[in-house]
Amino acid sequence: MKALRRTLIATTVLAAAAALTSCSSGVAGPAASAQPTVNSQATFAADSTMQKIHDAGKITIGTKFDQPLFGLKNPTTNQPQGFDAEIGKIVAGKMGIPADKIEWVETVSANREPFIQQGRVDMVLATYTMNAKRAEIVNFAGPYYVAGQSLMVRKGNPLGIKAPQDLAGHTACSVEGSASSTNIRTLVPTVHVTTFDSYSKCADALKNGQVDAVTTDNTILAGLRSLDPDSFDLVDVTFTKEPYGIGVAKDRKDLADFANEALKESFSDGSWAKAWDSTAGKILGPAPQPPVLGKY
Ligand code: GLU
Repeated sequence: MKALRRTLIATTVLAAAAALTSCSSGVAGPAASAQPTVNSQATFAADSTMQKIHDAGKITIGTKFDQPLFGLKNPTTNQPQGFDAEIGKIVAGKMGIPADKIEWVETVSANREPFIQQGRVDMVLATYTMNAKRAEIVNFAGPYYVAGQSLMVRKGNPLGIKAPQDLAGHTACSVEGSASSTNIRTLVPTVHVTTFDSYSKCADALKNGQVDAVTTDNTILAGLRSLDPDSFDLVDVTFTKEPYGIGVAKDRKDLADFANEALKESFSDGSWAKAWDSTAGKILGPAPQPPVLGKY
C-alpha cells in the first residue's frame, strides 16, 4: 500500500511539474484542470433538490481518491483528478456550482450506497456500476461510460492467465462491496478471493506475490498499470459490462433527472468527450460514442 501510495504521489507531482513546464512554454496545461462552464443563471422549481443545492452554493460529491484516470487525489491541490471528477464538475456547473465549491469526499466501493443514504454526499461518481440491486436503494443517472471487468497480472504473466476461468485454484484480489468481487465469485467458484477496501492495495498485493491477479474494471486496471508498467501486465479480456452511473438518494429523483439532462447536454456539446480526452483518454484512447442514457 505504502509503495503504491508513494508512486501515486510521485506520479502526480511529476504530472503537476509537466503541466507547469508546458504552461510556461505557451502550451495549454492539462484540460483536466480546465473549469467546466458554470451556469450562474440556472433556475429551478422552488422546492427542488437543485434549488436547495443552488441556495447552499455548494455540493458534496463522493469519488475515489486512489484511482488514476478516474479519481486520484492530487496531494498539492487536495482535489481529485480524473474522468469521474470532471463529469462531477460538469453536472455541478450546470447547477450553477463552480468547481471550487465542490466538497469532495472519498468514497470506497463499499460505502457508496451508505454515504448516499445517510446524506453525507449529494452525488457519487466513483466508477460506480449501475445495476438493479443498487437501484433498489439509490437513484442512478447515466451511464456516462461503459467499462468491462478484466484482469491484471504480474509482469510476464507467469501463470499464463488469459481468461477468468484460468484463475481456478489461484488467488485473485478485489474490493469489498464491488461488483467485481461478486462477479468473479459467481463466474469462477473455485477462485480464492482476497479483498481490500481499495484497488491500489490489491495492486500492492499483486506486486509482492500475495495474490495472483487483480480483477476489476479494465479502466481501473489500466490506470493502476500506468503507474507501474514494469510490474504489471493487463490481460486482454473483458467479461462483464459495467455502466458507470451517478448515484443520488432514492428520494431525490429530481436530481437524477437533472444529472441525466446534464449528461445529455455534455454528450452533444463536446464537454463529455473533452473530459474523457483530458483524463482517462490519455491511456485508454480517444472517447468512444457516448453511451445510451438509461440503458444498463
Ligand atoms: N464498477 C464496479 C463497481 O461499481 C467495480 C469498480 C469499483 O468497485 O469501483 O462495483
